[in-house]
This record gives sequence, structure tokens and C-alpha cells, in this order.
Amino acid sequence: MKPGSRIYIAGHRGLVGSAIRRSCCARGFTRLIVRDREQLDLRVAQAVDAFFTAEHPEYVFLAAATVGGIHVNNSRPADFVRDNLLIATNVIDAAWRHGARKLLFLGSSCIYPKLAPQPLREEYLLTGALEPTNEWYAIAKLAGLKMCQAYRRQYGFDAITLLPSNLYGPGDNFDLETSHVLPALLRKIDAARAAGEERVMLWGTGTPRREFLFVDDLAEACLFLMEHYSDERPINVGSGEDLTIRELAELIAEVVGFTGRFETDPSRPDGTPRKVLDVSRLAGLGWRARVDLRSGIRLTYDWYRNSLGRRLQAQETAGVRSTAATSAVASPDPEALAHRVTRPS
Ligand code: NDP
Repeated sequence: MKPGSRIYIAGHRGLVGSAIRRSCCARGFTRLIVRDREQLDLRVAQAVDAFFTAEHPEYVFLAAATVGGIHVNNSRPADFVRDNLLIATNVIDAAWRHGARKLLFLGSSCIYPKLAPQPLREEYLLTGALEPTNEWYAIAKLAGLKMCQAYRRQYGFDAITLLPSNLYGPGDNFDLETSHVLPALLRKIDAARAAGEERVMLWGTGTPRREFLFVDDLAEACLFLMEHYSDERPINVGSGEDLTIRELAELIAEVVGFTGRFETDPSRPDGTPRKVLDVSRLAGLGWRARVDLRSGIRLTYDWYRNSLGRRLQAQETAGVRSTAATSAVASPDPEALAHRVTRPS
């Protein structure tokens, strides 16, 4: 990519898209193309086609998707499979037809088989049954990955797929109904600290092992791979280190200053028992994550407190429950954040 390349970031207000935008701004790419969902619904093929006709982006980061944690995956299966199939189909096809040089598709570590050996190697994809709580999302993401491979084989289109592990960072979704585990825990534990409570309940047994990657590290990997990777094989992007949910809760407690205890609720689903990526192929290309988990949680917590936490706490104190207010947080100002999100090496 050159400084003047036309770069389209689909999903630029989301956790991943906003981090990619920050990285592009920090690297001096000036011709970024973005559209709010209200301006361009990527599920509508004609609208996507008209957009590509008008803008002719050269590089496409496809970070738009319907995403969420276990609860929302289970309760909205039709939305997850339909929206993600449509977004992948429309954007990948339009990018190829309108002559984009390259497209980067965001898959996820959630699309590996539930009982695949650990750590997860790229060749384990499609070797076994999926985790039932997110199979709708996974099927759509696998279809997107296969589209990238098929368009490369049949048309020579340079489309690549990244498989990130669990992400977190500034701009995350802190809505307890729809968020992923780390922001949900951070919010619950901070609320318990503020209220002086003695215990926090963890969903499930607390024993599943998970890996987390700071979202600005992922954004750096996206730019790196856009420039240095061209292969039909998807590639894992993670820290390569995992810990239990209970250990994660204890680390968050240290960062936020919660001194109470944790209890578990085994009646809630655990999901996959262990999920950690083998990142040796990425490491072989010369890339590694830079932000360790404690520093990343600290940066995320600072962002949460400064931009969101006070508002949420005030609402909770007043007894107001507003999903819109809690979920519409994924649009931090990219240039301001590019300065604030400093990165310890
Ligand atoms: P977010 O929910 O934070 O952001 C999704 C973005 O997609 C939002 O900007 C949203 O727009 C946009 N979007 C959704 N539907 C449409 C639509 N119909 N038309 C236009 N835009 C739409 O998700 P993340 O940033 O977390 O995820 C981005 C990608 O990264 C996904 O492909 C996901 O699978 C992948 N990923 C994420 C992980 C994570 O832990 N978060 C882990 C691994 C992979 P709006 O702002 O208007 O809502």
C-alpha cells in the first residue's frame, strides 16, 4: 500500500475497524474510505455495488460483521448466519468485480472445530463439528473464507483471510447482554468494586482457557499482512498465550482494584474448553504481538472509565437500563486514540 492508496475499511466504527483506522492514520494513509451502516448497508448487494462503482477502493479491510458473545449467538441464529453470509458475499464479489488490488477478510478463532487439538493450527479448520453455541456465525465465516480461496483460484483475486483470537481494547462493546467475555468481566468487576460488593459471579465453571489479543496489535497485523501475505491459506493472529477465565477475572480484579472473591455458575454454558492459536506461521513472517495482557487491560480500563464507565454507573445508580447507550460505544475518535493508545513493547 502507498500513502495515497484508496483504502476502504468496512466496519470502521467497530472494535476492529476503528483500530485499523487508527493504525492507517498513524501510518500516514490519507485516502481512507468509510461509510456508516446508515449510509451503506452491506447486506444489500445493489448498494454495495453502487458504492464500489463510485469509490473504486484499491485495498479492502472487511471488518464489518454481526458479532457477539455466547448468549446473543444462541438467541439470534438467523441474524448471525444471514447477515454474515450477505456481507461476505456482497463485499468480496464487488471488490473483485470492481478491480480492487487486495481484500483482507476477518475470520475468527471461533470457526475451528470445538474439539480440535490445541494449540489450533490452520490445517485443523473443517476437520470436526463446530461449537454449537456459535455455529451459525462460524458457518458464515467459513463460507467467507472459502469465497476468498475460490476467488483466488478461479479469478486470481488477491483475497486473504485472518483468524484472530479473542480481541479486546478501546471501543469494545460493554453491553452485558451482547459483549464478549473480557469487556463483560471488566464491567462487572468494576461495578462490584464501585458498589463495595464482596463477590462477583462468573458464568460457567471458570475453567475454560482462552487467549486474548489487544485490538491495536491485531490492526498492526492486518496492515502487515495486507502488505506481506498473499496465500489462499488463512492465517492465525494471536498472542499464542492462554489463561483460564478465573485467572482472567483475577487479573482484571488486580487492574481495577477489586478485592472481593469470585464464585462460578456451572449452570451457564462454558463454550469450547480451550482455545489458543498456534501462531508459528505468523511468527515465521516476522510479526508478533507487542501488548501484554495486563497492559492491554489497563489501557482498555482507562478508556472505559474515561469515556463510558461514568455514564454507565450513573445510569445504573438511577436504575436506567439502556441497551442503546451501552452498546453504541464502538466509535472512538481514531486520531485522538492513535495518540492515547500507547503501546508498551
Ligand atoms: P463490532 O461489532 O465492534 O463492529 C462491527 C462493525 O460492522 C460495526 O462497525 C458495524 O457497523 C458494522 N456492520 C455490521 N453490520 C453491518 C451492515 N449490515 N452494514 C454495514 N456495516 C455493518 O465487531 P468487531 O470489530 O469486534 O469484529 C469485526 C470483525 O472481526 C468481524 O468479522 C469479527 O468476526 C472479527 N473478529 C472479532 C473478534 C472479537 O473478539 N471482537 C475476534 C475474532 C474475529 P455499526 O458501527 O453501524 O454498528
